[in-house]
Parts: sequence; C-alpha cells; structure tokens
Amino acid sequence: MKKLYGGMEGGGTKFICAVGSGKDEIIEEVLFPTTTPGETLGQTIAFFQKYNVSAIGLAPFGPLDLNPASPTYGSITATPKPGWAGTNVVAAFQRIFDMPLAFELDVNAAAFGEYSLIPENRSLESLVYFTIGTGIGAGVIINGKVTHGLTHPEVGHMLLPHDLKKDPFPGTCPFHGDCFEGLASGPALARRWRKPAETFPDNHPAWEQEALYIAYALVNIILTLSPQRIVLGGGVMEHQLLFPSIRDKVRVLLNGYLASPVLTGTMEEFIVPPALGKRSGVLGALALAKSCV
Ligand code: ZN
Repeated sequence: MKKLYGGMEGGGTKFICAVGSGKDEIIEEVLFPTTTPGETLGQTIAFFQKYNVSAIGLAPFGPLDLNPASPTYGSITATPKPGWAGTNVVAAFQRIFDMPLAFELDVNAAAFGEYSLIPENRSLESLVYFTIGTGIGAGVIINGKVTHGLTHPEVGHMLLPHDLKKDPFPGTCPFHGDCFEGLASGPALARRWRKPAETFPDNHPAWEQEALYIAYALVNIILTLSPQRIVLGGGVMEHQLLFPSIRDKVRVLLNGYLASPVLTGTMEEFIVPPALGKRSGVLGALALAKSCV
C-alpha cells in the first residue's frame, strides 16, 4: 500500500485539507471556513486524525515565522485577521501528530505545487507564483527551491507607481496604503468601484487599470529575479481577459530592454494561469509533506 500524506492550505476565508499519496491519488479533500484558530485548527486536526498519514504539509496565510531556530517557529505573526496573530500552527499539530510536519507560507506551497507537480515547470530553475485575490502574495522558486530570507518575500506589498490624478484611490493596505495589494487586490477593486469585481463587465475601466498595476509588479519581478516563468492565480485572475492585457503592458514597459526571446515574443508561455487551477496550494502542501520524509 502506498503511503498517505496530508496537505493543508489555510487561507483567510477557508482552510482546504487533502489526504492522498499524490496529486492524482487524493482520497478525501475538505474545506473548513476560517473562524477562530481553536475551531478551524481543531477541525483540520480531526480530519487528518482519520487517516494513517506519514507526514503533513501545513501552509497557512502569513506572515509566518519560518525560522526553525526561532522560539516562535510555526506561528502566524502580524496578521490583521482578528484572533490569529501569534497562533502557533506547528505547535498545535505537534501536540497531536508525532511525524514530520512541513511548514510553509500558503503562496510558497502553491509555488512549490506548480513547480514540482507540473513537468513543463519542473524542467525550469526558477518560477514565481502570484495569487491576486482577497490578498496579494507570491512564492518565489529559485534553483528549484522555495526562497526564504530574513522572513519570506512579501511581493504583494511592493510599492508601485501610482498616478493619483488618474487613480485617486488611496489603497486599502492597513500597513502601506497604496502598495500592490492596497491598489489591486479584490477588496481594493470592490472598494474603489463600490461593487464586487466579479460584477464588472469586460469593458469596465477597472480591468485596464488592474492590468497596469499587475504589469508594473511583474516588470519589477522580471528585472530583479529574472524568473523563467510567472504563474498568475487567485480570484481576480479568473477574469481571463487580464492575461493578454498584462502581457502587452509588460512588453511596453520593458521597452525592448531585455534581450530574451521569451520577453520579446507573445509571452503566452511565460505569463500563465496555474496548471493546477485553484488547487495549487493544497496539492503543493501535500507535495511538501511528501518531500520531508
Ligand atoms: Zn501593503
């Protein structure tokens, strides 16, 4: 019998948990709403207890303490989400499960999933996965590994050019106002235009503006990390017309400066939707569990 592994992607609105031996062999996948740490972690622990798993990959929303040498390793740090700051996810699981526990930021797990489970990505050395939805974040894979640093990259909070004459909206980020997430997350779109983004028609001016902010962020990433592929996931990116518009704007902003044929071509294989759809995070968490035994 094949070994079983657990994967948990913990988002701000829901926790997705799966058990299986690999991405095409999932036995059960469930979803719990994110309420209080006690209730939601209790539900996820009870779910994994039903199975004889060999390791679990835990990938909650951040920011996280990912430093194994730190006394608060395993915890969610400065989140504005009520009740969750200081919650130690790893400690809660360690009390119940005597087995390897992988711990990673949700977007890093998604990046790892897109990278390690998709053969066309696996042949690359670098990839950046963005989620653009309720929040904005990105997982960075360099030389085949998830990048950490002092903490972990927080690409969603990078600062972008903001023309206040064209877009006087001050942004929604409680820390920075008009950072990338403050200008371009789903809640930012809804607050700026006073209705949810999924109700905007295809010709709504919000989409042009959104594509421009995303293109600014991608150009910054292309110029700093030179990734071989960029994957754009998350609820906002379900508006598929953003893709061609973002590629066009990236080309215009780079203005021919970089000589790679990837950047001067159509970029259809360079800026792509997630191959795993909405499951990059949970399948990536399971893949991380598998990689730690
Ligand atoms: Zn911010």
